[in-house]
Amino acid sequence: MEKVLFGKTGLMATRSGFGALPVQRLGKPEGAALLRRGYEGGINFFDTANAYSDSEEKIGMGLSDVRGRIIIATKTGAGEPGLFWRHLNLSLERVKTDYIDIYQFHNPRALPGEDMLECMREAKARGLIRHIGITCHRLDVALAAARSGDYETIQYPLSALSSEDEIAFVRLCASLGVGVIGMKGLAGGLLTSAAPTMAFLRPYANVIPIWGFQRDSELDEVIALEQSPPALDEAMLARIEADRAQLSGNFCRGCGYCMPCPAGIEINNCARMPLLLRRSPSASWLTPQWQAEMEKIAGCVHCGQCMKACPYGLNTPRLLEECLADYRAFLSA
Ligand code: SF4
Ligand code: SF4
Repeated sequence: MEKVLFGKTGLMATRSGFGALPVQRLGKPEGAALLRRGYEGGINFFDTANAYSDSEEKIGMGLSDVRGRIIIATKTGAGEPGLFWRHLNLSLERVKTDYIDIYQFHNPRALPGEDMLECMREAKARGLIRHIGITCHRLDVALAAARSGDYETIQYPLSALSSEDEIAFVRLCASLGVGVIGMKGLAGGLLTSAAPTMAFLRPYANVIPIWGFQRDSELDEVIALEQSPPALDEAMLARIEADRAQLSGNFCRGCGYCMPCPAGIEINNCARMPLLLRRSPSASWLTPQWQAEMEKIAGCVHCGQCMKACPYGLNTPRLLEECLADYRAFLSA
């Protein structure tokens, strides 16, 4: 699989990475085997997090014997030094390693303060981590992180649906030597194939999209695409334009930044239900459990906090009402 020099980290990373969030939904042997299959298929970049239940452990189970040949990126959501060190030690233990290649602050609402950066620097000086990164869903935070000079990598949602502003962010990172880890390459399930995003992001050599794999078939698709990367030709551009037109730029990306909701609404899925129903197999969204989840929308207390938190400026309560009306109509059709 083709590799690139990943920004100023100096790491040689495969152009596609393995996002190890979904493997937490598999049993331990199955999850470890899928990770191994990714490695055997040529992937050398694995992204996980302290918060992804047993995902790190599965990386340790499936890949510890090839530790020197892979890049491990993991994350801490710690907001204070004590927890930072507990998380880091736990990650090292679970992954069965004595260093993490890229250690990332996990989706902070604002850039971490000097006390937390000092933890990162100390961990790096002690050889426990090799590079400092951050993950975020907000473009303003991502831009500030890039300009701060504190981060060697930034993880941000990128797909074929990304805006010009988001691509300008990628270019800024390239000019600063910052590697970009692209999450949500399928736009949270709204794109049905990896090909458009792979073609769209390919010109940016500082971007490693990480694909969340839960099934062999998903992994096989990306490995096959990597063997013969899709071109951003006229047909592909037309396909991307059609997706953009259908999603009209004003859709819920499923980032979950607006949660938790005091009414218990699972906003990150409910607010894009019409798209999920039509762009992925609908049966899994029509179960009694999902019907109950959708009906929670009727209990929205209109506190407005989701709207304030949404980085995409969505009127979330109104969007949710529309989604519930559409869902009920879809069910009764
Ligand atoms: S406005 Fe409604 S959906 Fe949004 S956080 Fe408040 S209760 Fe939840
Ligand atoms: S409503 Fe906004 S913040 Fe909430 S999940 Fe959707 S895109 Fe993210």
